[in-house]
Amino acid sequence: MSLLVVGSVAYDTIKTPHGEAPDALGGAAVYFSLAARIFTPVRLVGVVGDDFRDDDVRLLEARKIDLGGLERVRGGKTFRWSGEYSPDMNRRETLSVELNVFQDFRPKVPEAFRDSRFVFLANASPVTQASVLDQMDRPDFVMADTMDLWIQTQHRELVDLLGRIDGLLLNDSEAMLLTDRHNLIDAGRAILAMGPSRVVIKKGEHGSVLFEGDRIVPLPAYPTSHVKDPTGAGDSFAGALMGFLAQKGSSGPRKSKGQGVEPKTFKVALAYGTVVASFTVEDFGVRRIAEATEGDTRERFEVYREFLTL
Ligand code: AMP
Repeated sequence: MSLLVVGSVAYDTIKTPHGEAPDALGGAAVYFSLAARIFTPVRLVGVVGDDFRDDDVRLLEARKIDLGGLERVRGGKTFRWSGEYSPDMNRRETLSVELNVFQDFRPKVPEAFRDSRFVFLANASPVTQASVLDQMDRPDFVMADTMDLWIQTQHRELVDLLGRIDGLLLNDSEAMLLTDRHNLIDAGRAILAMGPSRVVIKKGEHGSVLFEGDRIVPLPAYPTSHVKDPTGAGDSFAGALMGFLAQKGSSGPRKSKGQGVEPKTFKVALAYGTVVASFTVEDFGVRRIAEATEGDTRERFEVYREFLTL
């Protein structure tokens, strides 16, 4: 089933205790797509400037990522983000953000993408995210990401968006900020009450927790000691999760929110998200995730499944 992602396409400058990568291909929509394409073709909507390299276009196109919705702004510069990680890599400081063409990003979903059944709204203002939904033709399953900036500056718009989506993905501190709760379980339940039928709270190296109706499902991260650069882990987690859901398809058009996806399928999708995110962090930028294969993924998934089974 068709999968659409809308979000940032970037050049990142990353510093970790293992080294530095200047002007590396990145952005939420790029990490998402490189993870999702392991499972299914992806349609990408984003914006870049004249400086976006042909090599990067080729890298994405060679991996079943349809760039029909990638707008190129003449005379513009691609979004740039720079970050530095703490020695244990659990904390990240943003050193600089140059929004450039992303500042005025008004996503235009091409006609041919409007029938996408699965939609991921990567991190952007909730107003921008809602404008994408306005252009879609009743998708089966819509998931969104958000961040502290939007929770603080566009709270009402974000709450409105929550009423229109099936799943929300955010990290633990953002969940507490959004709900004003200090307990993760309370925060997850409070977000469910705001609209989405599924909430996934990410806890970095400690894994994630799914909230779905009365059910709470905690999943550990896939343990890897080769962490070189955590950038993009969250977006590739989302990419594999949605990629797997789209590959499985839904059990018919949705009657009410999120109904098309079975609980068991969603749990397996989360496990794939966990496994694929572990590839991303093993090298700088997109180097590792761009080379991950279906075979690598299945192999690691079996190891993960094995240690979840008692
Ligand atoms: P993650 O490590 O999963 O949080 O994702 C990191 C990616 O998000 C990097 O490749 C950045 O280019 C991108 N990014 C950073 N800040 C923003 C922002 N404000 N809006 C959209 N994308 C961003």
